Amino acid sequence: MAKISTKKFDQIFSYFLELYPNAQTELNFDNGFQLLVAVALSAQATDKQVNKVTASLFQKVKKPEDILQMGFEDFEQSIKSIGLYKSKAKNLRKTAQILAQGDGVIPSTQDELVKLPGVGEKTAKVILHVLYHQPVIAVDTHVHRICNRLGIVKTAQPLQTSKLLETLIPNQYKQIAHHAMILFGRYFCTARNPKCADCKLQEICRYYKDLPKTKTSQKNR
Ligand code: SF4
Repeated sequence: MAKISTKKFDQIFSYFLELYPNAQTELNFDNGFQLLVAVALSAQATDKQVNKVTASLFQKVKKPEDILQMGFEDFEQSIKSIGLYKSKAKNLRKTAQILAQGDGVIPSTQDELVKLPGVGEKTAKVILHVLYHQPVIAVDTHVHRICNRLGIVKTAQPLQTSKLLETLIPNQYKQIAHHAMILFGRYFCTARNPKCADCKLQEICRYYKDLPKTKTSQKNR
């Protein structure tokens, strides 16, 4: 696959910045531990669902010890409306135990973060990016989809996309890439019915070029 040029990256990220000049996470939190809890809960759940749960949960949970003091059943019940809540409750309780036994500080490297129960590569990268402002890109389904549509990568799985993006995305865009791409995928280049007719990236978009001509002309009417 031909490597995307610097000029195209400039075009893509200028557009993302135009659309989302203040792109940031849509999860609500007040400190690093709450961020970790929110990100862990957000796997296969929407940020909106997570914020609904954490609005009351974070009244009680501000540090690892608070989850331990709540008791397991109470904690499990408080996140019950989130998918996979049973395994998330178990993992978060174990993580709270580990952090409470240490200095309570959220690790600042991917290697340390993924040792925490329930923390995978994507969760770790979100924490590194949001909490420690590191230029890493966590790849979710939105980022995976738009990178393939735009022709930045040609991959089947988000994990493959993640590995490639580390080297493909120019350094100057890594800090903004994560949230801007998520918002673009969530609200603009959606899985179904992307807003191609209004998109300024049509001329460089592989997905758009591959659309049947009739569909393309209809979309531009
Ligand atoms: S042209 Fe359509 S598919 Fe391509 S990036 Fe824009 S909205 Fe997404």
